[in-house]
Amino acid sequence: MEKFTLSPEHVLDNAPTGIFIAGKNGECTYTNKALQNLLGLSYENSLGVGYTENFHPDDKAVVIKHWHDCVAKKKVFKSTFRIGSGPEPKLIVVLAEPLFSDNKKLLGYVGSVDDISELNDVQQALRLSQQRYELAAKGASAGIWDWNIDSDEVYYSVKFTDLLGFDNLTFGNEWESFSEQIHPEDRDLFNLSISQHFNDPFEVLDFECRIFSAKQHELWVHIVGEAIRDKQGIPHRMVGSITDVTDKKQSQQVIWHQANFDALTQLPNRNMFTDRLNQEIIKGKRTGDKFALLFIDLDHFKEVNDTLGHNAGDLLLVEVAERLRLILRQSDTVARIGGDEFTALLTNIDSVESVEHIAAKLIETIELPFFIHGESIFISASIGITFFPEHSEKMDELLRFADQAMYLSKEEGRKQYRHFSRRLQEKADRAHRLSQELRLAIIEQQFEVLYQPIYNISKQAVTKAEALIRWHHPDMGMISPADFIPIAETSGVIADIGDWVFKCAASQVKQWQAKFNKEFEISVNRSPAQFQSALEHHDRVWFNKLEELSIEKGICIEITEGLLLDDNQSVKEKLSAFQRAGMSISLDDFGTGYAALSYLTKFSIDYLKIDRAFVMNIESSEQNKALCEAIIVMAHKLGLKVIAEGVETTRQLDFLANAGCDFAQGYLISKPISAELFEQELTSCDPFNMRHHFALAVQASLSF
Ligand code: C2E
Ligand code: CA
Ligand code: CA
Repeated sequence: MEKFTLSPEHVLDNAPTGIFIAGKNGECTYTNKALQNLLGLSYENSLGVGYTENFHPDDKAVVIKHWHDCVAKKKVFKSTFRIGSGPEPKLIVVLAEPLFSDNKKLLGYVGSVDDISELNDVQQALRLSQQRYELAAKGASAGIWDWNIDSDEVYYSVKFTDLLGFDNLTFGNEWESFSEQIHPEDRDLFNLSISQHFNDPFEVLDFECRIFSAKQHELWVHIVGEAIRDKQGIPHRMVGSITDVTDKKQSQQVIWHQANFDALTQLPNRNMFTDRLNQEIIKGKRTGDKFALLFIDLDHFKEVNDTLGHNAGDLLLVEVAERLRLILRQSDTVARIGGDEFTALLTNIDSVESVEHIAAKLIETIELPFFIHGESIFISASIGITFFPEHSEKMDELLRFADQAMYLSKEEGRKQYRHFSRRLQEKADRAHRLSQELRLAIIEQQFEVLYQPIYNISKQAVTKAEALIRWHHPDMGMISPADFIPIAETSGVIADIGDWVFKCAASQVKQWQAKFNKEFEISVNRSPAQFQSALEHHDRVWFNKLEELSIEKGICIEITEGLLLDDNQSVKEKLSAFQRAGMSISLDDFGTGYAALSYLTKFSIDYLKIDRAFVMNIESSEQNKALCEAIIVMAHKLGLKVIAEGVETTRQLDFLANAGCDFAQGYLISKPISAELFEQELTSCDPFNMRHHFALAVQASLSF
């Protein structure tokens, strides 16, 4: 029998596993047969760095890089990669242990190589993900990670570590090196996302989160990845990319901020507020929690803007916002939803009183002086309150009800809060009903125009009249224009109503000029809403009517101060167009608004009507007397004629006559009366001396 001794060399050469010895630079000094077979190389060719010759071209650089990383850190080298570049490359797993000298110097590596190509599915999956992997690797901004899940070793590309500002060599090659950098608030979700992907290949990993750089800067990154699975679907490896999306995220945040916050005060805007309100309603319906909605409106803010300039107005709004924020709790939402309109959402409320307490505090705080541009400014606020779910469970209703309650507090004297109430509800319902019925009223001719004489003081004669509309509602009886004109204004019907009144007045003045006085003039009220450009086509109706009747003059248009406040060019042009067509312009209710005297010079105006509120107090207040006199003098200096409204007593008339006032209108002369009655009065007496006749007629027969 032949004597045969097995040497370690036999073991190495016949081992089913590939075995090698390599130096620090990866140069092989020994490969066994199994390895040579696996690489498809002869012993000689496999030595040095020849063994890399058959590495898959796409894996080669990655493997070599990983090798150098391990050498630098004196760590175990472990890697799975492909051999051969044909359609069916082999997949091998390499494990190499570092060898050290006695004095801890790294001498080289001894390693094993196993063919794991039988895991066909793995290969399949690899091929599938290859395209994505390559794309990602080539992408200019993406960093690549390649995670061997079984050994928990990760290859991080240079771009990956660059992106985070780490040195590629010191970053580490565990999964933890990566996951630890992720922002703690996003980490759980990230891990969840990965485990979901592991459990279900259709749950792709596509994730945006914050991550910390080496210098602890917060970055936003977009992470995508895909696991490579075996036949059982168990993931063994995962490859993916990471992209810096900080810039995109920041600009998204800027856009989001702009869409949701008010640029001036930095408070949430209407958009954001309605979002929160909506959420609160949903929550409230689920939990039964109540909340209060406050509508806060500054009183006379326009005045500040007009007298001190928009800049000061803006600063004031910023300060107001600051005070609101200070009074309200962190959990409350305060928003600016319009010019000088703010809203607040008070949640977790324990009682109505606690909400009232806050509302009162808000009002008090706003009443304290503001210091702007070295001046003290005083302003106040009116607040409307509604409660969820007591008043409504609908967002638009809650907002509308709070707004209505706010208007109530304005109506009742401002600087206070009011709750939404059933009475307001009824008022709102009535307004709604009227707005529906207004159109029908035009068609069914439920309107009537009354005429109120305007007395020419020096001529002692009625030479003018004001056309005032009345609505004879089939069920509700007579409705005052003070009630329905505002509704007509908001529902857009005002233009049709105004056209109708104008046509009546034009026909009337034509007749009265022919019958009594060719200078006779009728005033027609025109609300600011009728100057809106959307309603511009209605202007033609007025011009056409004048042409049709060939009226050269005889119509006066009464406008209010509010119209002039904006110093609007189109308003200016419109007023001149009316004047060119032979109409005169009268400024109604002078003294109630905030029209500065300068407005009178900017617009071409013929008459000024002193508001009833001034005339009413002439007898009792020296100050009002002085004011009336001053207005008359000033108007005359500017070439305007003055009409005093609401003259009810002879003493008022005497005073006005002495002060040089040109015209008087009021119950003393007559209430508004029908055209028929008006004509009777004009025929039955001398039109140039009829004041007393009119006055008598009032006492005798007039009801409204
Ligand atoms: P206005 O233009 O200030 O009209 C004067 C109002 O004061 C009229 O109320 C008139 O009846 C009332 N009045 C006149 N003299 C006296 C007086 O001596 N004492 C008192 N207490 N009141 C007096 P009216 O007719 O109820 O009209 C209210 C408002 O409705 C008008 O105020 C005007 O702004 C608006 N309006 C009336 N007709 C029209 C119209 O055809 N178009 C538009 N846009 N508004 C109209
Ligand atoms: Ca008027
Ligand atoms: Ca008036």
